[in-house]
Amino acid sequence: MKILISDPFSKDLPQRLMRFGKVTDDKNEIPDADVILVRSATKVDKTFIDKAKKMKMVIRGGVGLDNIDVAYCNKKGIIVKNTPEASTIAVAELTFALMLGIIRNMVKAHNSMKNGQWAKDMKGSELCGKTLGIIGLGRIGTEVAKRAKAFGMNIIAYEKYNTQFACAEIVSFDELLRRSDFISLHVPLTDETNEMINRKSIKKMKDGIVLINTARGKLVNENDLAEALGSGKVRYAGLDVYQQEPPANSPLLALENVMLTPHLGAQTFENMERISDTICTIINDFKKSNPKV
Ligand code: NAD
Repeated sequence: MKILISDPFSKDLPQRLMRFGKVTDDKNEIPDADVILVRSATKVDKTFIDKAKKMKMVIRGGVGLDNIDVAYCNKKGIIVKNTPEASTIAVAELTFALMLGIIRNMVKAHNSMKNGQWAKDMKGSELCGKTLGIIGLGRIGTEVAKRAKAFGMNIIAYEKYNTQFACAEIVSFDELLRRSDFISLHVPLTDETNEMINRKSIKKMKDGIVLINTARGKLVNENDLAEALGSGKVRYAGLDVYQQEPPANSPLLALENVMLTPHLGAQTFENMERISDTICTIINDFKKSNPKV
């Protein structure tokens, strides 16, 4: 079996995979690879799939499958796997890093210290007693809800498909927009969720809302958000994901009231280990049922 590692994974993964066959990161070997490992950088579109003539399985280290043409893979009989549980805690924790970081002026405070200032008059706000609206109460949304409870927040959620929502009051999308002091996005990118945060939905939000997006950039219309951040309708935004990555020419880059991270949600050492463990299990199972590959 030839395994092609197309995006960065934990350092020890190639070594761990060698027991299954040949392991390479040389993209010239795409046509020859039986199993291809990707994260979000490699676009497994029709062109890629047609080039990967021997590919029997593609594994996405992470949750979102929006960089993989799953329908075309299915048509070609290529197995598509991901590691959906692995990143949950890492993303939930980054959500709080952004939420707390932005409302307590962490970047400004840090930079002012580096500049030799002692800006003790810098005032922030608290999470306790505020209403957090979670959009998408799946794996990550649920972990965010649990942690928000510990911070003394009231939690409401808009959730369309998951029926096991013990940890939050479920409300309609409009009610969530109307009642939340903080909104955190945790839905996948689909036709339904594409740009669900836009001028129209922002208008329904409370004045001075704080928006956090650690899910997918395309859930938000960035021009509309930038306009609302400029007017103060949205007081702060904490963003890990962007319409285009890296975000060239985004109006958000020039704003003061944002805290931006370069899609770091899944980037913890612990998560990289969990992703590697899951990949080894998936390939082990594949090898068992396909001993000749
Ligand atoms: P999940 O599937 O467990 O949860 C998503 C939830 O959204 C589900 O409960 C689903 O029912 C709900 N949902 C889907 N469409 C909806 C809609 N139209 N309206 C309301 N609810 C809807 O996924 P997860 O593991 O919690 O991950 C959530 C998202 O986080 C992923 O899809 C991915 O885009 C993103 N993510 C980002 C990073 C990062 O590095 N920043 C890492 C991992 C995942």
